[in-house]
Amino acid sequence: MIPDALIMAVHFTRTRWQLDFRERSKLEAWQQAGIQRFLREVLPRAPRFQGLSPRSLAELPTMDKAAMMANFHDYNTHGVQLDAAFDIGFRAENSRDFAPMLGAGPNALTVGLSSGTSGNRGVFLVSRAERLRWAGILLARALPQHLLKRLLTPWAPPLRIAFFLRANSNLYTTLNSRRIDFAFHDLLLGVEPAVPRMNASQPDILVGPPSLLRALAAEAQAGRLRIRPSHVISVAEVLETQDAEAIRAAFGVATHQLYQATEGFLGYTCEHGTLHLNESCVHIEPEWLDAERTRFQPVITDFTRETQLIVRYRLNDVLRVAPQPCPCGRAERAIDAIEGRADEVLWLPERDSGKAEAIYPDLIRRAMLFAGPTVREFELTQSGMTLHIGLLAEGDRAEAISCVSTQLDLLWRTMNIQPPTLAFTDWQPAQPGVKRRRVRMAQAPEGLKCTF
Ligand SMILES: [Zn+2]
Repeated sequence: MIPDALIMAVHFTRTRWQLDFRERSKLEAWQQAGIQRFLREVLPRAPRFQGLSPRSLAELPTMDKAAMMANFHDYNTHGVQLDAAFDIGFRAENSRDFAPMLGAGPNALTVGLSSGTSGNRGVFLVSRAERLRWAGILLARALPQHLLKRLLTPWAPPLRIAFFLRANSNLYTTLNSRRIDFAFHDLLLGVEPAVPRMNASQPDILVGPPSLLRALAAEAQAGRLRIRPSHVISVAEVLETQDAEAIRAAFGVATHQLYQATEGFLGYTCEHGTLHLNESCVHIEPEWLDAERTRFQPVITDFTRETQLIVRYRLNDVLRVAPQPCPCGRAERAIDAIEGRADEVLWLPERDSGKAEAIYPDLIRRAMLFAGPTVREFELTQSGMTLHIGLLAEGDRAEAISCVSTQLDLLWRTMNIQPPTLAFTDWQPAQPGVKRRRVRMAQAPEGLKCTF
């Protein structure tokens, strides 16, 4: 068997230097070649696609998480049933031992659970080849130049990565090697036990959701956490400006983003800080949400996966495109922001027509930012024509409420929207390990047709 590190190195090298497209036409030609091979050789191995011989992706139906979970067996090429996969996933999650795999030997599969509310859990399968490929590509896209040099210098100390996630996985420990020292920190335990561990190990790279990185920044500001990471990467949640600023103030570096989901490694920030879609590895069709083509839901096809097939899979994310091309010159589409999941978009009626108007979470976050420094934390849930706002105030609470009301009122007026009722409550911190969602639509106003 070819050693893991060598396979990773091949993917790393290819991604970093060969899949560095500057012309859109070349990128698309590369994608098409990959897609054609995928349609011919891989697709027929999954029961769902047997008997079809599509000439292009457009001939295939779209799918989503619910469809995949309802017909799990049909979407993978190893004949794995959903129960068997969930069984391993749940056992790992409960015991916090994330090593067990499905099957044995070189064909064993890594099983992971994807987060989501209890009704929305997913499970994913990854083969050894896919795991190594993922690790190689991730490093190629995420490592800045100065750390790459260190990685490739045999006598330099290994790169130390501190990784905060809800669950560990064989996927991540794949990164462990002679040159990389990978430490998993369990998000469920929070920051406290991590502080002494990190003070002892002095990580070069911090990876975690922004809410956690921000908590670490506070520990550093308080003098308890004494580390000097030279690279900080945010994953799993939307990175907000305030988080990025707090992290920069504490560690003196900009926060980079990895747009990584169960469904694949979808995007990364370049040296200019722009988020690019990882289109040299994943085909991403935009499903436009507005006539001006500023926002879309991505429909993804990973033409390199061979175990669990992701084919024209609609993600529940809303992406906002960058208004200008990135100065780095990459041909991969530049994204201004990941605005969050589609159920983070609020819907309110327009003042005159009563037509449903989408209010993107980014607009709410901006209004809260403009409400000023008295607002320390917030969480907003729409239920019908009422917005429930959990608020943590710095100092005078009445003043914070008044500032928030003024800013939201301004937003409704600017958008010409019927103002909803605001109901303020105390802010509650999220349970450790639970993904923070600041803006959420629980229930749309009655009779309002809320579709893009
Ligand atoms: Zn760029």
